[in-house]
Amino acid sequence: MQNISRVINQLLEKKNVNISLDELMSDAIKDKDVQKFIKDNKAKLDEGAIEKSSANIYEYVTQKKAVEDELNNPLYGYEPHLIMNDGLIEVSYEPTQASLDKSKQKKLAKQLNYISLPDSLKTASLNDYNDGSEGRFEALAGCASFIRDYLNDEIGKGFFLCGDFGVGKTYLLAATANKLAEKGTPVSVVHFPTFASTIRSQVQNNTAIIEIERLQKTPILMLDDIGAETLTAWIRDDVLGVILQHRMERRLPTFFSSNFSMAELENHLTYVKGDVEPVKAKRIMERIKSLSYEVTISGSNRRNPE
Ligand code: ADP
Ligand code: MG
Repeated sequence: MQNISRVINQLLEKKNVNISLDELMSDAIKDKDVQKFIKDNKAKLDEGAIEKSSANIYEYVTQKKAVEDELNNPLYGYEPHLIMNDGLIEVSYEPTQASLDKSKQKKLAKQLNYISLPDSLKTASLNDYNDGSEGRFEALAGCASFIRDYLNDEIGKGFFLCGDFGVGKTYLLAATANKLAEKGTPVSVVHFPTFASTIRSQVQNNTAIIEIERLQKTPILMLDDIGAETLTAWIRDDVLGVILQHRMERRLPTFFSSNFSMAELENHLTYVKGDVEPVKAKRIMERIKSLSYEVTISGSNRRNPE
């Protein structure tokens, strides 16, 4: 304490500040958190403990102010707390709530892989999804029970969410993914049309195969907006077909969202650049059906609320 007092005194002299150390200490003791701490720990304080701890109390109050001034926080995510130690008052530094939230967020980010989807979906939540409307209930209940079962090691089929533009299919996928990731399950949510067009450009440098393998193996895959891609035979058979085949064989949960029903998607997959290939389309549909239950979401277009 001697040393700290001397340092503070020297600093004050250097800055030519006309306040005594005693004045600083007595200001610090008036701080409302300090007062509350003293009151709460009255019985545990040694005689003269406040005086003996005054440098610590001063340190606590100045550091607390520095943390409150967020832009100038020298403590990098930590904040001071007063603690009792052997009858005296000491300062302990613990992570702030904001930094705990940030590290939770980081952990979550490791589990979640949003490919070509907006960041805004990272806050999508199942609790907000329930607006009480009939058209959403079946899909919501299905996703919620999938999560419950999955977390109890009962791995069920995913869902093929279909319905008109704007009814909330992507939002429900994202909310489901967020919940699973929060519980520690890695999930990849992929905007399929964007994925299909970028993967075409990656064929030359072999990264396509890495991307395809990643989607084959991810514990939970969600393909958003399937059917809206510009289809080629390669995308259908060698990208989508290969990913789904692997997942079907290993029973890896897979979700889809589409503006098409399963029957309409089969039609979409049949016609590729003038070729009519119903057998190939059927083969893809068999995999989709074996991986997921079809559920229709109905309701208003949430993109243009009236
Ligand atoms: P779809 O994929 O069916 O076309 P989206 O999931 O993109 O529809 O939803 C359309 C819009 O409505 C988006 O902006 C989305 O964020 C918003 N939205 C959908 N459901 C909810 C919800 N439960 N709470 C808040 N916003 C929602
Ligand atoms: Mg969508």
